[in-house]
Amino acid sequence: MEKRYIGIDLGGTNIKAGVVTETGSIVSKASVATGSGPHQVVERMIHAAQQAVAEGHLQMRDIESVGIASPGPLSSEQGIVIRSANLPGWHNVPVRDMISQALNRPAFLENDAKSAAYGEFTAGAGADEKITNFILITLGTGVGGGIIYHGRLIRGVSDSAAEIGHMIVNPDGEVCGCGQRGCLELYASASRTGKYAQHLLAIAPSRSSSLRALLEAGVSIGSREVAEHAKMGDELADEVWDRACRYLALACVNAARWLDPQMLALAGGMAGAGDFLLERVKKHFATLNWKMTETKMEIVLATLGNDAGMIGAAALARDAHQQR
Ligand SMILES: [Zn+2]
Repeated sequence: MEKRYIGIDLGGTNIKAGVVTETGSIVSKASVATGSGPHQVVERMIHAAQQAVAEGHLQMRDIESVGIASPGPLSSEQGIVIRSANLPGWHNVPVRDMISQALNRPAFLENDAKSAAYGEFTAGAGADEKITNFILITLGTGVGGGIIYHGRLIRGVSDSAAEIGHMIVNPDGEVCGCGQRGCLELYASASRTGKYAQHLLAIAPSRSSSLRALLEAGVSIGSREVAEHAKMGDELADEVWDRACRYLALACVNAARWLDPQMLALAGGMAGAGDFLLERVKKHFATLNWKMTETKMEIVLATLGNDAGMIGAAALARDAHQQR
């Protein structure tokens, strides 16, 4: 019988929990609304884990350990979520120990994007033994990511390695929520892509675009609408999409310069555009990338979708002893 682990993915809207085998297959899963305030949210995380175990017709004693993927900043070593932009009222919450005690199982805490990266590395796009150096970039409300170097997840000295969304791509750009100027996520996140389209429509009221009708009908424009309209040939939508893809390609070139990995995978809301994202990023990558030697880094789409964080958290719980 394969060993089983629980992965819990704490999101701003939903908490997902799953029982995952040691090879990364999901046995059962459960999802509950996140709620608010640390006490309620942690209770719901525990409930989601218990529900996933029940769904799989298992007992908690059938589970080896529990991995928790949470937005940060956090300390994986101390098991504490320091605070969270998406979870108001959180301040130094000892999530790992609260869950470990309630479920009577060892638990491990990791940043959600790093967990997703580990999930894709172990059971998704990078699940190939030839791939040892791997980067994931997640393109959602913000931009996040994770780096695996020689099979190990890189945390950095203060758990802030791979804050890819906050790599500066324009030092004269606008101020980011983090306090720096011109961070990647101001140019290449799903939410910012929609906002930039709305900005272009607002500053040029006479410019025709099929997106304008959406805006006038009260539809909020996100990256999905931008991609759809760009695919249909709308010039403004294409300009917006192209700009986001170019900045992403810039990040990919820099990633290749820093780490020279075998693979870089794109995930999150914007990756829902599939090849329309991938091909455009690759096109700009080819233009921006150096010509000195061939770059072997393959740029691909992630494959696990919304389950990456959960699967990765479970894999981290599995590998926690080797990792530390
Ligand atoms: Zn920033």
